[in-house]
Amino acid sequence: MPCDILVALAGNPNAGKTTVFNGLTGARQHVGNYPGITVEKKEGTACCDGHEIRIVDLPGTYSLTAFTLEEVVARSVLADERPDVVVDVVNASALERNLYLTVQLLEMGVPVVLALNMMDEARSLGLRIDAEELSRRLGLPVVETVARRGKGLDELLHAAVEDVRARETAPWKPLIISYGPDLDPVLARMEACVNGAALLTSRYQARWTALKFLEGDEEIRSQCRLADLDATRELESMADEVAAHLKTTLGTYPEAVVADYRYGFISSLLRGGVVARSSDTADRLAFSDKLDAVLTQQLLGPLILLGILFLVYQITFVLGAFPMHLVEEGFSLLKTLVEAVLPEGLLRSLVVSGIIDGVGGVMSFVPLIMLIFLQIAVLEDSGYMARIAYMLDRVFRAFGLHGCSVMPFIVGGGIAGGCAVPGVLAARTLRSPREKLATLLTVPFMACGAKLPVFILFVGVFFPSHEALAMFLLTLAGWVTALLVARLLRSTIIRGEPTPFVMELPPYRLPTLRGLLIHTWERTWEYLKKAGTVILAISILLWAAMTFPRPDEKTLAALDVQTAATAGAGDAEGARALAQLRYSLAGRVGQALEPVTRYAGFDWRTDIALLGGFAAKEVIVATLGTAYSLGDPEDEGRLAGRIAVDPQWNKASAMALMLFVLLYAPCMVTLAAIRQETESWGWALFSLGFNTLVAFCVATAAYQVGRLLL
Ligand code: GDP
Ligand code: MG
Repeated sequence: MPCDILVALAGNPNAGKTTVFNGLTGARQHVGNYPGITVEKKEGTACCDGHEIRIVDLPGTYSLTAFTLEEVVARSVLADERPDVVVDVVNASALERNLYLTVQLLEMGVPVVLALNMMDEARSLGLRIDAEELSRRLGLPVVETVARRGKGLDELLHAAVEDVRARETAPWKPLIISYGPDLDPVLARMEACVNGAALLTSRYQARWTALKFLEGDEEIRSQCRLADLDATRELESMADEVAAHLKTTLGTYPEAVVADYRYGFISSLLRGGVVARSSDTADRLAFSDKLDAVLTQQLLGPLILLGILFLVYQITFVLGAFPMHLVEEGFSLLKTLVEAVLPEGLLRSLVVSGIIDGVGGVMSFVPLIMLIFLQIAVLEDSGYMARIAYMLDRVFRAFGLHGCSVMPFIVGGGIAGGCAVPGVLAARTLRSPREKLATLLTVPFMACGAKLPVFILFVGVFFPSHEALAMFLLTLAGWVTALLVARLLRSTIIRGEPTPFVMELPPYRLPTLRGLLIHTWERTWEYLKKAGTVILAISILLWAAMTFPRPDEKTLAALDVQTAATAGAGDAEGARALAQLRYSLAGRVGQALEPVTRYAGFDWRTDIALLGGFAAKEVIVATLGTAYSLGDPEDEGRLAGRIAVDPQWNKASAMALMLFVLLYAPCMVTLAAIRQETESWGWALFSLGFNTLVAFCVATAAYQVGRLLL
């Protein structure tokens, strides 16, 4: 059966498009929760009423004006592929805002079927929506769905097919909204001009193109310029004229007037009982407002925020110590077992030093990291995270960032335990390219989950009675550096005007246990998967680099004497192993770097670990584990124990290392994400070099000062 119907899924980010898509096509994909994770065009097929249907998942957008990449992509798919019908997935609990896109789809003149998704949420918020009346007023099919539970999806597909059939006899007409006495006459003249010059008329409705001129859509303008320069100039001068007129008479600009009239249209759609709230919702909103009066109060709010942050670490270390100890014991046991079974030699060294010490080192932090993830889930699900963004907007502005930069920071590890990759992707909500760039480049300074093992390890050894405080200060150090660097970048290489920030605060809600567990598990599973694959592979590679080439007996003997004289390796065996490590490939690179890194207090073994960390930060502890277990074949105690007695480590060098790890180059995956988002290797390489330089300067300063004071 050939595909005879093309359906496009459109909607705001997080309205549930991908969930609908998966439900309709049966394609299994991960459903992320960060705004705009659907960059690529996803396609699938479904069958309904004897038709084979091709379904395209468009990127999530709030608008169809070409301000973001997503908007450009969504729009050009609609114009070029001409889907037979667009299924617009809207979040029923935020109907007013979601319909803004619907109105634009209708104005564009594409046939729309509305999926009122998240009806479960809407109901639990106490919203009652009269879908039938809405359908009548909009003049299009409206289907209620709960995509997450697959409810209403069959009906939705059926309605879409029906609509396509109906189009054969009754072709679709674009929606025409009045934009008031100032814009309507100009719009009519502009429409005539577009029609006269046949500007883009094969792709868009003439009125729509004219509207885009008023909205300041650069993409449309430049396309028109290519097609007909004279007509474009004429349109531009009309647009400029009305803009100047609006400015002098009303003190506003065309884009704002257009948005006002669209919202006016929407609120008249919803009036008269189409959307009604039950009284207990009103109570909840009132309660939320009361809570916000305290939690986001100018002075109290930030103090409470800091307190909560501190509490998160306090809880983590108090509750996490015992399970962490258990996991460590488990791996020790495993090691003893392997040593009993495998004969001494390369294989045993690979399994013990490469795999168990490497991956085990990362795994033992899982209990602590799970606890942090759980608490982040509480903050997110309760609605408090949104308050953080709201409160920090003003602070961020002072540093050349934007309220929308707060979420990327938090997701990237602003409350330790995030990951810079989704953090970088979350920066897509920023409209201004400069603010977005500044955000992208500073998100990697946050204390992501992969850096935590390093912090936990060294804080545990050197600042054992102040664990929570030390972690809290490290997190703050990440924020402070990010903000200062943003200020620096925004006043030098990415200078530009700030843009306004609008945000509505969702009401507080009590998180459900199920939701918390799912969120915690999703994040933990990502972490475990990474430990089992990427980290394992890099651990093995690094083990090889730390083991080969192997010196012959004569060289070893000579090195041995030298090493024993310099490093305080206790016994002959230890000195020998250390000499072998020095002779290996990794050892040589580490030693080549040592003359420089010595200023920050790092010896060559630490350098090896830090190099490994360029691939993934988790590898740092793993590599230290390998480096120190290679140097200690007797294998007394775990890594923490070895570090505690090694003369190389003290409070100052531990502090320098933690700061360096916090700030230095983003890992490879983050670099790839930065490249993708900036569409430039230049910025990715810039952050690699620049962050490492910042990190080195901070670490050196910390070490030199720390040596004098601590
Ligand atoms: P997209 O950004 O539009 O692709 O949205 P997603 O499909 O990724 O969905 C965003 C979030 O909403 C996910 O956590 C989904 O599980 C959730 N979700 C989707 N549909 C529903 C629904 O009908 N009810 C509820 N409660 N949640 C939903
Ligand atoms: Mg999606």
